[in-house]
Amino acid sequence: YPAKEKLGIALVGLGYYSTDLLAPALQLTEKAYLAGIVTGTPSKAETWKKKYNLPEKNIYNYQNFDQIANNPDIDVVYVVLPPSMHREFVVRAAKAGKHVFCEKPMAPSVADCEAMIKACKDNKVKLAIGYRCQHDPNIQAYMQVAKEQKFGKVKMVTSAAGYFDGRTNHWKQNKALGGGVMGDMGVYALQGARLATGEEPISVIAQASTTRPEIYKEVEETMMFLLEFPSGARASCQTSFGINMNYLQVNYEKGWLKMEPQSGYNGNKGSMSDGTLINFTIKSQQAKQMDEDCMAIMVGTDLIAPGEEGLRDIRVVEAIYKSVKTGQLVKI
Ligand code: NDP
Repeated sequence: YPAKEKLGIALVGLGYYSTDLLAPALQLTEKAYLAGIVTGTPSKAETWKKKYNLPEKNIYNYQNFDQIANNPDIDVVYVVLPPSMHREFVVRAAKAGKHVFCEKPMAPSVADCEAMIKACKDNKVKLAIGYRCQHDPNIQAYMQVAKEQKFGKVKMVTSAAGYFDGRTNHWKQNKALGGGVMGDMGVYALQGARLATGEEPISVIAQASTTRPEIYKEVEETMMFLLEFPSGARASCQTSFGINMNYLQVNYEKGWLKMEPQSGYNGNKGSMSDGTLINFTIKSQQAKQMDEDCMAIMVGTDLIAPGEEGLRDIRVVEAIYKSVKTGQLVKI
């Protein structure tokens, strides 16, 4: 196809995140636009078609989705489904020859993530994970502190991400659909620790718990985990569907840094022991994410959060569940 000014994105799964965040963000993007939708709910197809002026030919369901291969309007398929469905739709999108954006958590298992990366590689398409925070200058600011060793080595990280989820019958409480707080909010607590140290953890010990066993029957409501990094840095992380919390504290050899919130849609901000403030404003994290990812695809540069970055988290998530099951420290 001829070079385009904007890439056409098709959102797959029109739930909360597509409806409330991604579609509005796609009205603000400069390198991407909402070109199509893939939904299992015919009434949503009608609503979205009118609201976003979508041509009928760019509307798919889960059965006829593979025909998207023949649609030049769609450059990127953005998978916004429950986590257990990510692998199937990423692989189908890759086989259709489309670049893929996939929401976090990338998939329930390392094996799934590896299959998704391979499918995209084999079909010569790009795979980006929806880690919107890595596109946020406030998060990039603390990543830079680790990189420059501004306050020396990282000694200790405390990282928390959780919210109170009042729902009682959602996929987040269903194991088969990829629920559980660890993959959901837990990856933000984990990313806080990984990005603040700039290192990959080498061991973990974890504890799962719930205060609402009648709702959290199959998956954990709360997860606490301790990470050890190669430099000797340690992290204490917590995530929950029962507690509103969102902060990061990093203690270095010669100073400290605090973020609160650390992984919000907006308003992430913080301060450092030398008085430096972190407080950038951006119009839309999701718009910035999709613009930067589309730009990377168009010019052929590296993605900020490729499939391999999603896999790094899931490798730790798997080790966390193994630690919960065995009650032991698990090497990663
Ligand atoms: P929702 O439950 O609100 O929406 C999921 C959608 O997936 C449904 O509306 C439905 O869309 C489709 N779907 C297809 N099969 C099923 C099924 N068996 N059960 C439930 N839904 C199904 O989820 P969210 O929008 O909150 O989350 C979707 C993804 O986005 C997850 O991976 C989540 O972690 C991620 N997310 C990321 C955020 C971020 O900040 N990066 C924030 C929120 C979510 P349809 O009716 O169109 O078929």
